[in-house]
Amino acid sequence: MHEKCGVVGISLEDRSAARPLYYSLYALQHRGQESAGIVTHDGFQQHSHVEMGLVGDAFDQTDLEQLNGPQGIGHVRYPTSGSVDNSCAQPFSVSFKSGSLGLSHNGNLVNTEELRDQLAEQGHAFTSDGDTEVIAHDLARNLLEEDLIRAVKHTMARIHGSYALTIMHDDTVMGVRDPQGNRPLCIGELDDGYVLASESAAIDTLDGELVRDVKPGELVVLHDDGSGYDTYQLVKTENTAHCFFEHVYFARPDSVIDEELVYEVRRELGRKLWDENGIDSDVVMPVPDSGRSFASGYAEAANEDPNAEGVEFAEGLMKNRYVGRTFIMPTQSERERAVRMKLNPIKSTVEGKTVTLIDDSIVRGTTSTQLVELMRDAGAEEVHVRIGAPPIIAPCYMGIDMASREELIAADQSIEEICEEIQADSLSYLSIDSVAEALSESRTDLCLGCVTGEYPYDIDGEATDRDVDRPGIDTATPADD
Ligand code: AMP
Repeated sequence: MHEKCGVVGISLEDRSAARPLYYSLYALQHRGQESAGIVTHDGFQQHSHVEMGLVGDAFDQTDLEQLNGPQGIGHVRYPTSGSVDNSCAQPFSVSFKSGSLGLSHNGNLVNTEELRDQLAEQGHAFTSDGDTEVIAHDLARNLLEEDLIRAVKHTMARIHGSYALTIMHDDTVMGVRDPQGNRPLCIGELDDGYVLASESAAIDTLDGELVRDVKPGELVVLHDDGSGYDTYQLVKTENTAHCFFEHVYFARPDSVIDEELVYEVRRELGRKLWDENGIDSDVVMPVPDSGRSFASGYAEAANEDPNAEGVEFAEGLMKNRYVGRTFIMPTQSERERAVRMKLNPIKSTVEGKTVTLIDDSIVRGTTSTQLVELMRDAGAEEVHVRIGAPPIIAPCYMGIDMASREELIAADQSIEEICEEIQADSLSYLSIDSVAEALSESRTDLCLGCVTGEYPYDIDGEATDRDVDRPGIDTATPADD
């Protein structure tokens, strides 16, 4: 199960949280288009509305009016490559002996099976095969015996993998980030309350102020009157494992993640791409949308370079914004057709010119192959491809639906071979060191699994890039609780 999602949690003084949650989910729509959901609490009981589809389709006026209460959490879920299954739509909610629980999860646990088996043996019944339900049951079990903070801490000691969670226990809204901070989560302040969200763009949408990122291993508990929040550093680790792909592809350019504005990072990646492997050409053209900031940085660096001839930055590929994501098309031929439906060149910017196409990443190679062909058909003399990330050689186990190893074009081919396959005149990627520099992080604080094949978490059958301290699931109660 690969879940790449958006989460939000809100606690307000005395206004309904439903609309602010709904607007936040709109702002996080790029993080998941398969399902959308909101769970609120009115001081007495939970109200829940979870539907398949886009945020705008999942809720109508009546749904929002029924979601009573000034506290709530929300979720948008990323489409998985397999079947569309509403048993995994979130927030997940349960009622149990010591109250109600709602959970929104972004990330992916790597010891789900182990935990599920153990909980099932203790009598817990599961309705889905997702990892979020496992976290919910574990937490519910702990809450029977201990207070909220200890319960979360003990669940954190047992779950292993990546997670940014918003949790609602009765009317208390909380946010927690895994000990290595793989997935983003930040805190925002509103006029009459506080918000936790995957990306700061959601806070901007609510006219709020970004306070800061939630720290890796930190629990943030919002006051139930919207007056503030308390924080608890429940787990401390030496190194982080921030996902570099958030800045490269996934997040909105207007979001600040781990103190770095995504737009500026992408421009810097583009500048470094020129420094490392720039090539003179008539035009530089982004693959919309994510390639734009890379291409503007690349073109800027090219035009500042005294040894270069100067280049024109051109928006030569038009995108049909009503076509869904090509990535989730089940067959290769459908994916190829979808690229053609989505992107169309503006002939006058291409004809008779040497063109450099800039994209953030190559996964299967479908997009690049199609675009190089499109450029040639539109009369380009040469087509060079520059990619603002290193070659993706291995799958992501931490929550990005990337593709299986067999599907990754760079898994077992050299850059020259890939260049030949996509039929470009030249192809270059960016180095891992430049990615780390652009993110102002050291390599040891990033999760680089998909570009090195070595992961910061202990994954069966895969290599690790550090000493991972995998929590044993039988040591549920650390002595220092
Ligand atoms: P591909 O055509 O398989 O090589 O995919 C590369 C294109 O998909 C690039 O234009 C990327 O912007 C985009 N992309 C990269 N990673 C993902 C992802 N995890 N989900 C959806 N699209 C992606």
